[in-house]
Amino acid sequence: MTESALILYDVVDGRIATITLNRPQKANAQTPQFLEELDACWERAARDRAVRVIVVKANGKHFSAGHDIAATEDKAAGSDAEGDPFDWNERGLQSIYEWESVHYLGYTRKWRDVPKPSIAAVQGQCIAGGLMLCWPCDLIIAADNAKFSDPVVRMGIGSVEYHAHTWEVGPRKAKEWLFTAKTFSADEAERLGMVNRVVPLEDLVGETMALAGEIAQMHPFALAQAKRVVNQTMDIQGFYSALQAAFDIHQTGHGNALSVNDYPILIDLEQMKQSQENA
Ligand code: ZN
Repeated sequence: MTESALILYDVVDGRIATITLNRPQKANAQTPQFLEELDACWERAARDRAVRVIVVKANGKHFSAGHDIAATEDKAAGSDAEGDPFDWNERGLQSIYEWESVHYLGYTRKWRDVPKPSIAAVQGQCIAGGLMLCWPCDLIIAADNAKFSDPVVRMGIGSVEYHAHTWEVGPRKAKEWLFTAKTFSADEAERLGMVNRVVPLEDLVGETMALAGEIAQMHPFALAQAKRVVNQTMDIQGFYSALQAAFDIHQTGHGNALSVNDYPILIDLEQMKQSQENA
């Protein structure tokens, strides 16, 4: 097993790569380094010919509380601790657009297109950017305590950078979800087709690995083709183009925030940060 601070990578039975979010003390909130390490693990699993199935799971009580608000605030204040170019005080919206193009839309879309089946195992809270770690996976297994939400309308933005909401739950539920910043339970997410199945929390990893083992018996090229035929069908329907258009709409939310003094942020960022820290 290779262990880094934030993401763990392992290969089980020679065929199943497990990528484990490992920042439980912060509810797996995503810093730039966290995302870069996660992407490196996806790349590694994609390159390893022996790996047939990729499992994304999370240590701790929660799958992911989204983008790390404290890290984002550091960026807003002009801090450049990780050496990335995300500096909206210097370069305004251009810096946000470029950084998020790579680290949010780019990574997420790339993971979605890795030509191997992937399964996310989700427990506890999966908030906003957390959705962007499970949605790119082909299958999602939810623990019975999983909760899914994207409350960024409260922050003055339409939805997260990877707008799969409409595709995942349909337009009416997507609007209700976003307009009210509501949370979907695991059962509701299953009923809407966003997750494949709901299992007791204690069975989450076991069931996910069993499913991965079953899929890993199949021919890898046939699996890649089966994945591609579904993804390609969605892309012909406009999924790929819609993601880019929705990303640009998302950027107008950032642009508005940059241009308005006393920008109304209804969400209690301090409370959200506390919940990330206390999770
Ligand atoms: Zn953004």
